[in-house]
Amino acid sequence: MTPSFATRAVHAGRHDFNDLGVHAPPLDLSSTYPTPDLAAAAASYDALASGERPRGSAVYSRLFNPTTDRTERAVAELEGAEDAAAFASGMAAVAAVLMDARQRGRHIVAVRPLYGGTDHLLSSGTFDLDVSWVAAQNIAAAIRPDTALVYIETPANPTLELVDIADVVRQAGSVPVCVDSTFATPVLQRPITHGAALVLHSATKFLGGHGDVLAGIVVGGHPHIARLKHLRAITGGVLHPLASYLLHRGLPTLELRVLRMQQTADILASRLAESSQVQRVFYPGLPGQDPQRIIGRQMAGPGSILAFTLVEDSAEAMQRFISTLQLITPAVSLGSTDTLIQPPAALTHRIVDPAAQAASHITPGLARLSVGLESADDLWHDLAQALDSVASAAPAHSGEMLVSTA
Ligand SMILES: *Cc1c(COP(=O)(O)O)cnc(C)c1O
Repeated sequence: MTPSFATRAVHAGRHDFNDLGVHAPPLDLSSTYPTPDLAAAAASYDALASGERPRGSAVYSRLFNPTTDRTERAVAELEGAEDAAAFASGMAAVAAVLMDARQRGRHIVAVRPLYGGTDHLLSSGTFDLDVSWVAAQNIAAAIRPDTALVYIETPANPTLELVDIADVVRQAGSVPVCVDSTFATPVLQRPITHGAALVLHSATKFLGGHGDVLAGIVVGGHPHIARLKHLRAITGGVLHPLASYLLHRGLPTLELRVLRMQQTADILASRLAESSQVQRVFYPGLPGQDPQRIIGRQMAGPGSILAFTLVEDSAEAMQRFISTLQLITPAVSLGSTDTLIQPPAALTHRIVDPAAQAASHITPGLARLSVGLESADDLWHDLAQALDSVASAAPAHSGEMLVSTA
């Protein structure tokens, strides 16, 4: 019998604990490893430099670290992938994926919206990439002989658009598809089973889950991940072993956290949709918001991130709303135990091209809410009082706005 996800999440990466005689993962902070046998160390060095496991000495911690290796094995197992490579942050992981693609071809096909940093890295010319931005249904027509990668995010940051991974994989043909699955976590979605070549996570978010670790991880087939490990070794974006330890520590409670947060998000999304101070709510669990019926087919549920637009769609109204919140933390990031809120236009997506922001409904009055583990009633109480205060302050402030923009 194959153990359930919950069971594997508790035990993944603990395969050798009985042999080691330990109960908690050993934290190895070594920056270097003894190499008394030089020929053996040289062979190990060569193996590590090409992304393979060490043969004997691990040589140097930029090449291999046992604590990080343990965490990688655990996340690979939960995603149903052969292998994984952990990086210093989600963006270090995205950068490695793009550098690897650039070595195989110059062209990338991408679907917006994406996380602001990823959008920026693709558009900024940093890796001399030629990016075609297309709608998900137009990927096949955009593929060229030099297309090295198709890059998508689902659910997408910040407005929760869902993309049909199997359909994208079919359209991409022999071109590898990378799915940023940060919002879904392996609890709700496992893109490898739908044909994705690579799955990327900002592990800073749900996987770490407690707001105290910055990390990125990519899972996929062995040759591809070995190339990413090679890139990681030569460019240095390794995950610190203490961060690896904390990331591993987040995994046993991942399912509990994600399902509970999702339950609360579902309640808040419905209440926000009924509020007279809210123009629009973006949440795939709301009626009519998943026309392709991706939930149930690709995702086990809508997740715990939602976004909503204030009736007064302005930076001033957003500032009043944010400053009135008592319980919810105004901060970027997501997937933490506490509820976080931020306006993407002002913060996470401010570096995205203005026309692309507008096309993705990223306006000054859009707030992205990452629902935490507090009770739904306490969170609603906080949101409702802040929405009320925006409403009562609106007339005076809209007068000021007219003056200042005249
Ligand atoms: C936060 C985030 C990233 C970037 O990850 P960092 O760990 O902040 O570098 C990438 N993709 C998505 C969807 C994110 O939310």
